[in-house]
Amino acid sequence: MQNGKKLVLFLILTVLASSNLYALVLRKSPVPSASAVETGPSIGVYWDQGCTQSVDSISWGTLQVGGTQEVDVYVRNEGSDAFNLALAAQDWQPGNAYDWLSFSWSCGSATVGPGQVVEVALTLGVASDFSGGFSGFSFSIGFKGGSYLLGDINKDGVVDQKDLAILAAAYGSHCANYDYQGEPASPNWNPLADLNGDGVVNLLDLLLLANDWGKTSVG
Ligand code: CA
Ligand code: CA
Repeated sequence: MQNGKKLVLFLILTVLASSNLYALVLRKSPVPSASAVETGPSIGVYWDQGCTQSVDSISWGTLQVGGTQEVDVYVRNEGSDAFNLALAAQDWQPGNAYDWLSFSWSCGSATVGPGQVVEVALTLGVASDFSGGFSGFSFSIGFKGGSYLLGDINKDGVVDQKDLAILAAAYGSHCANYDYQGEPASPNWNPLADLNGDGVVNLLDLLLLANDWGKTSVG
């Protein structure tokens, strides 16, 4: 290829790349780049740890292609029971925004006790090969709370091999004073693996775990 053609090709690629970039860099654009916040019962979402400023929507501001933007919020359990926090991104507009934007979240403790406040980091990333052709987008974030399934021993939201491994390690063990007063607990006793709470880890607990196998704690 001649140098002149190479230069033209380079310029075309550069313009294409920057048009993609500008497609997503939002300045005074009226198009939304925001997420509505929807909450389940007993969940409050706030900007501050003191829980005085409620979050109705989240603006993602200026996003760069290949970059990420993080927004921190605080979630308070306003009910009387502990729940397992779950977030879901939905209602993407335009529909293909879902293909180019990735939403994720993290918090120190997925279990939120009554009255407890946890900081939640929300992250939105833009694919480095973005060619979605849209300049604005919106989606909603649902904050939900649910209870753990009985079989979710390690409380990571799903009943799988990790839970089975914990139960297997404690299998056959019993608590202190199980057969007679003063009897010590088995060396491998783990009360978390005693799903039915009868003081021994046996087939009954395994069956309870099997009943939840493959299920997720928060639907
Ligand atoms: Ca689990
Ligand atoms: Ca048991």
